[in-house]
Amino acid sequence: MKILDKTHAQFAETFQRRYDKGIHYSSPLYRQVMKTGKPAPEKLSPFFHLPELVRQVTSELNISTGRMSKREADGGVVKFVTQLTDDMNVESVVIPMYRRYTLCVSSQVGCRMGCRFCRTGRMGLIRNLTAAEIVGQVFTARHQLGFDIRNVVFMGMGEPLDNLKNVIQAIHVLEDQRGLDIARRYITVSTAGLAEKIDRLARIEGNPVNLAVSLNAPDDEIRSWLMPINRSVPMADLKKSLKNYPLSKRSSIFIEYVLIQGVNDRFEHAQRLGQYLAPLKVKLNLISYNPAYGSGLHPPSEKSYEQFHNWLTKQKIFVRRRNEKGGRIMAACGQLGGKRQ
Ligand code: SF4
Repeated sequence: MKILDKTHAQFAETFQRRYDKGIHYSSPLYRQVMKTGKPAPEKLSPFFHLPELVRQVTSELNISTGRMSKREADGGVVKFVTQLTDDMNVESVVIPMYRRYTLCVSSQVGCRMGCRFCRTGRMGLIRNLTAAEIVGQVFTARHQLGFDIRNVVFMGMGEPLDNLKNVIQAIHVLEDQRGLDIARRYITVSTAGLAEKIDRLARIEGNPVNLAVSLNAPDDEIRSWLMPINRSVPMADLKKSLKNYPLSKRSSIFIEYVLIQGVNDRFEHAQRLGQYLAPLKVKLNLISYNPAYGSGLHPPSEKSYEQFHNWLTKQKIFVRRRNEKGGRIMAACGQLGGKRQ
């Protein structure tokens, strides 16, 4: 019986059907597993006098989605690899944020979007992760590695909106207050720009999830060269979806712009980017490109990064510098994804 793919209510329903026991039993068990990482029904008072039920639950409860096969650290950033039950590998990255931690999770093995600057894109799509495999990454970071994960960003391997059903289910599990309790305002889904799916994400029940868009170009010509998805979803269509995305008073859409030498770093690019973003409520993360094996692309010099930053701020665009931590262990943006599975 799986638990990592279920909210408290869904687990209670399954438990009732399987063992004919109500939430008096399933609720403390769900809390215990999600909060400590270990099922120990024998320590829960409702189970004290039911050794047969303890035995059954202990042998049937499945909290594993794979095995942590590798762990590397660089300047506080920790990348770990989970070997899934079918031997596929996925990578996750723990990023320190003041006293707490953000976890960057993967949503697919590989990715079909084929972005030119991305290592994962070169793998192609192998398969979607299940909701349990997505939640399992948070579970591992919290309970095996001991990090106090408070933010989750879907920015690891894969295009989360290409696996929308499982990503939404994982969000429901992550935010359940009786379980992992990561509030929706601390969850961010990043996309290469699947406009139709952004519209569907906008209709998710309850408060909207934070949205990040990997834009990386000031116009269709450059974007289609960098990100093939732009050939079917041009920037004008993407903009419509971004305009309609529901935002609370204090939130904005995050725009990711990876600055690449000689590709998207000129003055006219900054001007066009500023015009595109002007009617939107956005914060822009300006990221210096991290060279990936064999991409043929290069990072900008310090001077061009500064210049580009200034050109945007002069247009009143809110720009955040994003220092890419973890570059040495290939844990920075666009660098996840082993060379082969
Ligand atoms: S940047 Fe994101 S969407 Fe593009 S290929 Fe990489 S993982 Fe896929």
